[in-house]
Amino acid sequence: MSRTIAHWAAGQIFEGSSGRTADVTNPATGAVSGQVALASVQDAEAVIAGAAAAAQGWARTSIARRTQVLFAFRELLNARREELAAIITAEHGKVHSDALGEIARGQEVVEFACGVGHLLKGGHSEQVSTGVDVRSKRDPLGVVGIISPFNFPAMVPMWFFPIAIATGNAVVLKPSEKDPSSSLWLAELWKEAGLPDGVFNVLQGDKEAVDALLDSPRIASISFVGSTPIAEYVYERASKAGKRVQALGGAKNHMVVLPDADLDLAADAAVNAGFGSAGERCMAISVLVAVGSVADELVARVADRTRTVQIGDGSAEATGAQREVDMGPLVTRAHRDKVASYIDAGEREGAKVVVDGRGAQARGGQDGFWLGPTLFDHVRPEMEIYREEIFGPVLSVVRVETYAEAVELINANPYGNGTAIFTNDGGAARRFEADVHVGMIGVNVPIPVPAAYYSFGGWKRSLFGDTHAYGVEGVHFFTRGKVVTSRWIDPANRPEGGLELGFPRNV
Ligand code: NAD
Repeated sequence: MSRTIAHWAAGQIFEGSSGRTADVTNPATGAVSGQVALASVQDAEAVIAGAAAAAQGWARTSIARRTQVLFAFRELLNARREELAAIITAEHGKVHSDALGEIARGQEVVEFACGVGHLLKGGHSEQVSTGVDVRSKRDPLGVVGIISPFNFPAMVPMWFFPIAIATGNAVVLKPSEKDPSSSLWLAELWKEAGLPDGVFNVLQGDKEAVDALLDSPRIASISFVGSTPIAEYVYERASKAGKRVQALGGAKNHMVVLPDADLDLAADAAVNAGFGSAGERCMAISVLVAVGSVADELVARVADRTRTVQIGDGSAEATGAQREVDMGPLVTRAHRDKVASYIDAGEREGAKVVVDGRGAQARGGQDGFWLGPTLFDHVRPEMEIYREEIFGPVLSVVRVETYAEAVELINANPYGNGTAIFTNDGGAARRFEADVHVGMIGVNVPIPVPAAYYSFGGWKRSLFGDTHAYGVEGVHFFTRGKVVTSRWIDPANRPEGGLELGFPRNV
């Protein structure tokens, strides 16, 4: 049954008046499941105005009260996560257990934000000058904009909004138009948790909604996650409009396997991190760098495992009593076709197709956007499948002779999101950490997404701006420092006073 997926403002559904919509599909069946509203500039302004009105009261709400709302949100999320996972699977296509994993990692940030009182403590120095004290504090920014990608419809917004709300801001979230329903479910949860109306808002839409946020003088900051060209555009336009911006972009993550690595564990990791969520993860492994003698054996083990990956409808209902499939469909037909065209290009350019996902059999509807896991060997850096972020279930093996060549390959790549090394040599791993120009590094860990009390972010063209997501950097992003210098007169020791036009000195 088709339904309308609207905006959320002032604590309720807001239909908007643009008259524009886009289809939302279930990728496992190909069926249209709803129409998402696409905001006009007027719709965006109405949502932003409501958020601006709510922001003032929320900023003045005590930390104790804000924290109570966050704890309530955490409890509700934890209790009802199955509902959210079902929504994610129905619009994104990732399998149920993977959707639950995404929620769990988002929940970690909510839990981190529950302790925000500790992180908002300022410094205080008494008697910095005679009778003068100094204290620092961090104030909320006001209304903050969050623009998220399709691949994590719950987790990526949760990288930002728990901290933004905990620190006293109002939020306007612009989710991906491909899977917009999770954001509305989260909005209702906030209401149930006791968040005042207008503090959390959802603006559905496409470029028009995004541009309205980037240009609005009432939006103080933009947290963007998506592809590199759009991240760069968002960073430039929003910075020009005077906003604070963090814009996280695309990736091409390399996993280096040294000859001394445990090859079975490395092969498991390569398959899990390469094909989980159909490769639609910014931390997916897309390049396997086989160093020296390890290549033939590594490729054979990865190929064996790749052939066993089951693809199909990953919803809990579809799975029923059967074993859950490993990998769902791609998000849209157009994306599926684009990824398949990269496989054609790789074959044309002379890479060896070891496992071919084109035409793979899926346990699900005939019209689903299926593409099986694909493994390429003998990929070279000049090939399109190496140069482009494919964002699908395609794993490329690049063979190099030495560790130095592996590092050179990683550092020559324009992206610097994540990377991993598989080895039993602690010294080599330690050197790797220092050598690579990449933001997040795994040692025998293929998807090194930092825990919520660290921060998430890449280097080079994987991040525009200098603040990473969540953790202490997130708290700093959503607050602005103030320093208060005060002088209270000691009634028993009143200073002389008098005119003194010279620059004040601390004495
Ligand atoms: P996308 O760039 O197409 O879309 C991201 C957001 O930007 C969406 O909300 C979309 O509506 C909006 N948008 C799209 N085109 C726009 C335009 N021309 N002008 C203004 N706004 C526009 O990305 P996607 O396909 O939804 O997500 C996949 C990408 O996100 C991949 O490149 C992936 O690597 C990246 N990603 C990065 C991270 C990270 O942490 N670095 C995390 C998740 C995803």
